[in-house]
Parts: sequence; C-alpha cells; structure tokens
Amino acid sequence: MTTQRRCPDCGVGLEAMEMQTGDGFTLYLVTNERKRGLRGTFGMKEKLRPVPHVCPECGLVRQYAER
Ligand SMILES: [Zn+2]
Repeated sequence: MTTQRRCPDCGVGLEAMEMQTGDGFTLYLVTNERKRGLRGTFGMKEKLRPVPHVCPECGLVRQYAER
C-alpha cells in the first residue's frame, strides 16, 4: 500500500522521483543513530535515502526519508 503524498498548496498528488548528482552518485541522509548489529552497535551511522516528491502543478519539491 502506498500513501499518496499531496502538495500542501495545490492538493494534487506528488510524483516520486529519483535524485542523483551529475555523476550518478546517490545522495544519503546520515542520522546520528548508530546502526545496530549482532554485536551491539557498529561504528557506521544509519543512512536514509531521501526520496524527492515533485508537484506537477507548481513544481514544489518535498523530500521524504526512507529507511
Ligand atoms: Zn503544488
């Protein structure tokens, strides 16, 4: 089940899109929470993938973090 995101200004559905740099790298959000593993916490911090949602009416871009 997908929850339809809506533009707060226009009320129309937002379109999910991919965001990449010009070199094709994927951007991540890094949280302050440590990843949990079998032996406690790893040194790595948890990464979230920002998913941009674009309004087809006004062009508003909202990003939602997905785990
Ligand atoms: Zn809009």
